[in-house]
Order: sequence, then C-alpha cells, then structure tokens
Amino acid sequence: MLKDQDRIFTNLYGMHDRTLAGAKARGHWDGTAKLIQAGRETIIERMKASGLRGRGGAGFPTGLKWSFMPKESDGRPAYLVINADESEPGTCKDREIMRHDPHTLIEGALIASFAMNAHTSYIYIRGEYVREREALQAAIDECYDAGLLGKNAAGSGWDFDLFLNHGAGAYICGEETALIESLEGKKGMPRMKPPFPAGAGLYGCPTTVNNVESIAVVPTILRRGPEWFAGFGRPNNAGTKIFGISGHVNTPCVVEEEMSISFEELIEKHCGGIRGGWDNLLAVIPGGSSVPCVRGENMRDAVMDFDALREVGSSLGTAAVIVMDKQTDIIKAIWRLSKFYKHESCGQCTPCREGTGWMMRVMDRLVRGEAEIEEIDMLFDVTKQVEGHTICALGDAAAWPIQGLIKNFREEIEDRIKANKTGRMGAMAAE
Ligand code: SF4
Repeated sequence: MLKDQDRIFTNLYGMHDRTLAGAKARGHWDGTAKLIQAGRETIIERMKASGLRGRGGAGFPTGLKWSFMPKESDGRPAYLVINADESEPGTCKDREIMRHDPHTLIEGALIASFAMNAHTSYIYIRGEYVREREALQAAIDECYDAGLLGKNAAGSGWDFDLFLNHGAGAYICGEETALIESLEGKKGMPRMKPPFPAGAGLYGCPTTVNNVESIAVVPTILRRGPEWFAGFGRPNNAGTKIFGISGHVNTPCVVEEEMSISFEELIEKHCGGIRGGWDNLLAVIPGGSSVPCVRGENMRDAVMDFDALREVGSSLGTAAVIVMDKQTDIIKAIWRLSKFYKHESCGQCTPCREGTGWMMRVMDRLVRGEAEIEEIDMLFDVTKQVEGHTICALGDAAAWPIQGLIKNFREEIEDRIKANKTGRMGAMAAE
C-alpha cells in the first residue's frame, strides 16, 4: 500500500488549503527554475527513465511522446495541449486534481512546455466541470500574480502563457485531434492521422496532447528523481496512479495508489470490500466504460496495471474501476454503454455512425430477450467490423464492451432469449 510520504497528490480530497500558499507549503513550486534549467534533453531523459506511461487511457510512454516534438523550431510555435475533457463514463480522477490540487498541473504544464519548446499551453476542460474550471482559473490567476506564469515564468528565463478553454460537453472532444479542432473553434471531429499532432497539430503547428494526470505528476517525478517513481509498480508499469472506483463497493472512492496493486487489495483497503461480499461480485470494468468487462472470479487476483489487465482480456484505460455485483443486469448495463457511444459518435465515418446505432438496437432486443441465438454471433461479427475500421477510437470503444459481454456472459444472453421464448421472462426478472 502506498505510504503517505510517497503520495504526489497530497490534497486529493480538498481537506487542505488549495491556494498557492497551501500548495507551496506542501512542497509544490519548490525549485521549479532549477528543474527547468537542467535543460530540455535532461528533462525528457528523466521522464523516459521514470517509466511514466500516459494516464489518459492509451498508456503511451510520456517521455517518448515528448521526444517526437521538433528539437529546433522551423519558425512555427509549438504547443502543449492538456486534455481535461475527462468524459469517459466512470472516470473522475482529473477533476480531483483540478479542483483540489491545481498547482500540480500548472507547475507541470510549465516544465513540460519548456521541455517541448512551447511558450503557450492550453488546458481543454469539459463543459460540465464548472467548479473545476473556476478552481483552476483561480489558481492560474494566482500564478500570474506571483510571477510563476507569464514573462520569465518562475524565474526560469522561459516565457510561458497558460490558457484554460471550456469545452461544450461532447465526449468526442476527448479524442486528441477532435480536441484540437474544437480548440481551433471548429466542430469537434477527429482528424485522420497522419499527420500526427507532433508534426501538425494545433493551428498546423507541432503539438503534444497529454492527459491532466500525466502532466501533474511531472514536477514531483523530477524533484524526487525518476528512480523513485520507477520504484513503484512492475517493470513497464511504473509509478503511482489515481484509481477511481465506483459501483457496488461499500465505499466508492478516488485514491492514489501504487501501480500493480492487486484488485482485491485495492477494493479491501480503500473501498470497504464488495457489496454483499466477494461471492456477490459479478463483473468488473477495470478501466472506464470503453474497455471490456471481466468476470468477477477472474478479477479478484488481477493486478491493476497496463500489461496484467491485457492478459485478462481488458485494459487499465483510465483506471476507472466499475464494479458490478450479482444484482446487476449485465446485459442492460452494457446496453446503456452502447446507447452512450451511439449518442456520442460524431458521424463522419460509416462503420461508427451506422454500426453504433445497429449495435445499440440489437443490444436493446437482447436486454428483453427478443432475439435469436444466432444474432449473438452476428452482433460479435459486427463489432469486429467496426473495430479498427474507423478514423478514431470511438468505434473500438463502442465495440469492446459488447465483445466483453459476449465473451464472458454468453450463457446469460442465451438464457434470456430462451426465457423469452418460453414465457419465463417474469420469473427471470425476479431472480
Ligand atoms: Fe466520428 Fe465515430 Fe469516426 Fe470517431 S469513429 S471519427 S466518433 S464517426
């Protein structure tokens, strides 16, 4: 279990002073100029050595991503864009950073921007996060007043401006290229890649898009050393991580823990166990709504990191852990996610625009058992035709929960279809 002295986010629950004075008292903004003066290459090498993998879901190594930015400017400015759109159902970790520990993010934005030769950074925050953006803007204003942002930011010799942009609440704007389009004032529709943002991103200029948590951990990693951060978790899955556990646990919570903690330990130590005990655990979605669910019995010993969760057929994603007990109608739960993805499809590619609606309608019938057994395979086949055949990952996000359902709960789907045919639906609903 992570010790208190190893927590990066020491005000995650808002129990302490979130102003600049409070943040400084907790060790933030300490020697920032010195960290920057270590130089661009050193910072990137240290980030690589820390083993930090992006905390927005994909888990791409952060230092490596930064190294894709041009070393010398060709005349175009470079930008860091921070993705605070956090719209994946179940995910609620970045909001705690922004409303309670905002200075971790602002200091990280300055250091990361310097490392990527960017004098300007934008934070794109989802529209529904009203209190979070107020808290963040207040913290940004404080930093300007204190000389930590603006000309010669924090006495580092680097001029740096940080802007907060409010989104309008579209899930797809959490996709990095849709986010860039939206930031430019256009409709939030994903772009084809290549070109990748590091070559041509915001306003056609080199851009890196990073998640809030990925940036907010940077100052502490550099202050305490990459070896310290790399010392947590298994190889290739380093660091501390914020987990958000929701659903049928006794005390749902958001908590910073060591990567590679076991699922059982995470739930027992922080969530008071499963509602009704471990025998009542039905399924877990371990990384936000877009990743496949896993049967409860396969999750109990699972290790919560990128590689281990892939081995159980799912993914760490954003570490938004959704727990479902045996009182859950799992078919209906996944149908609800299908409805969400159908609603959030931007509609520009056919497999996603048509496929999400088609999958949702079949799921709708499966909930009521009004389908033929053969349609289960047909639905699985359609998810495979959507997966990997779209411009952005929303198509995959819509396909994976259904694939997880069919792989893990085919029997339940078949039982419901049979029950409907034999008129036993009333009895099933009561079970
Ligand atoms: Fe839009 Fe869906 Fe295509 Fe993504 S996959 S670009 S959301 S239509």
